[in-house]
Amino acid sequence: MDFDTIAAIATAPGEAGIGIIRISGKDAIEIGDKIFKNKKQLSLKECEERKLNYGYIFDPKNGQKVDEVLAVYIKAPYTYTREDIVEINCHGGIIPVRRILEIVLENGARLAERGEFTKRAFLNGRIDLSQAEAVMDLISAKTDTSFNVSLNQLEGSISNEVKKLQNVLLSMLAHVEASIDFPEDDVEDLTYETLKEQGSFVLEKINKLLGTVYTGKILREGLKTVILGKPNVGKSSLLNAILRENRAIVTDIPGTTRDIIEEYVNIKGVPLKIIDTAGIRQTEDIVEKLGVDKAKELLGEADLVIAVFDTSKELTEEDYYIIDLIKDKTTIVLLNKSDLPSKIDEIDIKEHLPDKRIIHTSISKNEGIDKLEDIIEEMFLSSEVKITDSIIITNVRHRDQLLKAKSNIEDALNSLESNMPLDCIEVDIKGCWENLGEITGDTVGEDIIDKIFSEFCIGK
Ligand code: GDP
Repeated sequence: MDFDTIAAIATAPGEAGIGIIRISGKDAIEIGDKIFKNKKQLSLKECEERKLNYGYIFDPKNGQKVDEVLAVYIKAPYTYTREDIVEINCHGGIIPVRRILEIVLENGARLAERGEFTKRAFLNGRIDLSQAEAVMDLISAKTDTSFNVSLNQLEGSISNEVKKLQNVLLSMLAHVEASIDFPEDDVEDLTYETLKEQGSFVLEKINKLLGTVYTGKILREGLKTVILGKPNVGKSSLLNAILRENRAIVTDIPGTTRDIIEEYVNIKGVPLKIIDTAGIRQTEDIVEKLGVDKAKELLGEADLVIAVFDTSKELTEEDYYIIDLIKDKTTIVLLNKSDLPSKIDEIDIKEHLPDKRIIHTSISKNEGIDKLEDIIEEMFLSSEVKITDSIIITNVRHRDQLLKAKSNIEDALNSLESNMPLDCIEVDIKGCWENLGEITGDTVGEDIIDKIFSEFCIGK
């Protein structure tokens, strides 16, 4: 495809060691040539391709030197976008990168839209849509595990599986067509049997992929975790103990009325997003601080609750209130301060929370935390879905397409079972094929493509 030439700053804004300006398109090398000279006064095109060339950027308007840089040009098609590419490494910092970008724009490039480099890689056929989406997931990954899963997807793990299924569906369609075109050949019985077999195979594979969605969601978003307990039971001690060893990333969420901080911790490959730690830090009771409704709302969103009780004290009304709140939640119960003489009525807790995992901890002595981590791993990385499995569905759009594909292939199988005419069945098989095609981008509309890339960052 023939596109205009685009340019953008590829590095994050702010002060840094280097900043990179990226140019892609048919005039990229020409533009680079106009503005770069090396020490021997050679222009970019006169330097070797695919080599970082030391030199300067000049403004062709007035011949003024702008910055000392390393510049490289790479000819299509072996580039990120499959177009000619120039990259200029200049001094990091807002001024040099902006100045150079301006000069590049004045000399024939257009400012790239969000994700436009990757969009071109897709439109030029270097990667498919699911791989392009993996690029963004790689950039925004918050834990090693989610990074690895995205890397797998970038290498085409989802695409390959989807293409395999699409091929089976194509072969099904070929059978259908043959039977419709040559009904007198008496191939119909055979066709129904073959279609059932192939259809069941496709359904089974789709179900297997859908079986990874929950793990995928956890990897993408983190397991929303709330630590709950009345004041002084050891919540912040627990949080600190977990963070000490596992802290991954801290992000502030701007625009919220309270200062909510999200902490990502990585527990044996399970990313936990601990919600509302600010509240916990102040060792105030979440329930008391936020009110009953807010506490319920918070718990409503939680994938996991860690409920902490103090074993050295008898259970109070507050404890019973918490027990009531967590009854229907996925909860791990910590009976903390097990180093002190026990006064708690454990039997009572077990009776109230019969299906919950209960562990004894002494957080101040660092005892029982390993056990907590083992249980989290066991609960959320179930044996059916191993992270090391190459294909995990982390993208909501992919999940939705798989659900549609599943419904279509199920319809086809039901129709086969009740010996419906083949042209009815053909519609469902085609539908399934198209649903899968939307994952890789084969059959996807322009509006969806635009929406996907608009969520990218600039310069990618
Ligand atoms: P929070 O109000 O629930 O956040 O509780 P903190 O984490 O602030 O702990 C309250 C007090 O209990 C602090 O003095 C901690 O040192 C102490 N504490 C926490 N865990 C244990 C434990 O396992 N054993 C003992 N003996 N004290 C603990």
